[in-house]
Parts: sequence; C-alpha cells; structure tokens
Amino acid sequence: MPEFMKDIKGIHHITAIAGPAQENLDFYAGVLGMRLVKRSVNQDDPGTYHLFYADAEGNPGTDLTFFPWAQMAPSRDGYGLSNEVSLAVPPGSLSFWQGRLERYSIRMGRAEVRFGQNVLPAIDPHGLPLALVESQESLGRVFSPWDGSPIPVEHQIRGLESARMVERDLVVTTSFLSKAMGFRHLGTESGWHRYGVGDGKSGAYVDLREEPTAIRGAWGTGSVHHIAWRVDDDAHQLEVRESVAQEGAHATPVIDRFWFKSVYFKEPGGVLFELATEGPGFAVDEDRARLGESLVLPPWLEPNRGEIEAGLPKLVAPRVD
Ligand code: ZN
Repeated sequence: MPEFMKDIKGIHHITAIAGPAQENLDFYAGVLGMRLVKRSVNQDDPGTYHLFYADAEGNPGTDLTFFPWAQMAPSRDGYGLSNEVSLAVPPGSLSFWQGRLERYSIRMGRAEVRFGQNVLPAIDPHGLPLALVESQESLGRVFSPWDGSPIPVEHQIRGLESARMVERDLVVTTSFLSKAMGFRHLGTESGWHRYGVGDGKSGAYVDLREEPTAIRGAWGTGSVHHIAWRVDDDAHQLEVRESVAQEGAHATPVIDRFWFKSVYFKEPGGVLFELATEGPGFAVDEDRARLGESLVLPPWLEPNRGEIEAGLPKLVAPRVD
C-alpha cells in the first residue's frame, strides 16, 4: 500500500444471496431483530429486491444486504468464495441467542471459541452460514439501537464482526491484501489466518483458510456475493482503486449507488470486493423514522416505478411473534 494512503476503516457492508424475499425479511428483521433500513432493487437487475438490514441508522459497518434470487440454485462450496458472515453481539448474550434461534428452529452448530471469543455458528433459512460472536470490542463501535426491534437492546446485533474466505493459495491473496489494501496479519488459529485493516478490531478483519484441493466455489442462494470495504470519500476511493489496480486487480469505474459510491474488483483468489464510500448514507432519500418502509429507487429508475413494483413480490411486516 502506498505510504500516503489512508487506512481502510473496515467492512462497510456485506451482500449475500437469499431465497424468497419474505422469508429473508422474516429471519433478519423478525428473528434477528435487525432493522430493514432500505428496501430497494438490485440496480443491475431491477426485477429483484435489494434488502438492507442494519442498526437503527444504517451506520457503515452494521449493514448486511441481500439479493433475494428465489430461482437461483444453492451455492457450491469451494475456494474463491466467502463462506460465512459473522455478526457482533454483546458479551454474555449467546445463551439468549441460542434460545431464540432454537425457538424458531434455526439450524445451529455447537458453540465454540475462536481467537478467545465465544461464537455460535448458525445457518440462515436459505443456507448462508452465520456466526454470532460475543464481541467486547463491538461495544466501542458506532451503534444506534433499534427500538422497533423484538430484541432487547442489551442483546441486539451491534454490526458486522467479520467474514470467512476460502482460498486455493493463501499467499497470493494475503500479499495482495497487504500490498494493495494495507491489511496486516493478526494471528492464526486452527487453520484460519486473521488479517485486519485499520484498528483490526470488531468489523475490521477477515479470516482466511487455504484449501488447495478445493474446487472453485460458485455463487448461489446461501453464499456471500461480495464484501464491501469502507473508504472515507471519493478521493480515498480513487487512491485505493489505483492501488489495487497496480497490484493486478481489474477494478470497475466508480459507480454511483446513490447512498454511497462503489468500485468492484476481485481479489486474486476470486472473492468479489467492493470499495464503498462512507456517505451520503441511507437517510439521503428517506426520513430516518421511516427507513425501509417503502420501495426506494435511485432517481434513474424512478420513471419505471410502476413496472418495477408490479414485478416484485409483495412484502409484509416480518411474520414472527
Ligand atoms: Zn455492495
């Protein structure tokens, strides 16, 4: 990474592929109690929703988003794919979460300890591996509690903790992460190599595993689509774009996503990354109190609203009690 470049702060958002939209909403807003902060469409495929779940304000680093592609086949495990999203929860809250997930018959793994943190692995209703991580550090992050959540504030999800990635050749990816993006090696445990940016704390690291004999993973329902990293502003975005291009990545031009600006590229191992600016944010086109309640379209899709709305499945409030 060039000396003058500012740090990437951490994860901005993660986008994954889901099955039917209503089931996705029932789980993330209903069972997990995250706030639906934006109900929009996939800007490259406006016949598909793009649903954004976050804290009450949609602060960067809290945001897990989905393309519900109900007709898509399940994902195929393998290298070049991120295969788990972890969510930060307050220390001491895992037994609450275990009880809640049990009540809704959500598939769970056995609780385990990773790098000194208590972790509860689970699988979302469309096959996406999740991990709830008791994260002391997450208590120091920017977080706005959501008073419309069924989850008591003291147990609410504080934001994205991290993600896991599987690589065929670890060094190819880690040298790219270090040189082009400023990642540092933070530790290795049970075959997982932790690399962080910025302060390297909650929301600012990924865990990588090398699987040289794995087949190429493929997107499908239940897989991560991309991991977006936080850049300060347009200038910082262009700097990092230049840096990743110099290390051989094919980066897209800057794309205006309206709530932030985006650049996409694949790290050399095949996982799709995005560089997303901090602002302007989700409140740019909706009242904070009404976030996520109605379909929001970027201005250039507004003329096609009638047609787009007619083609989308109807969504009702989360169907959980
Ligand atoms: Zn994105």
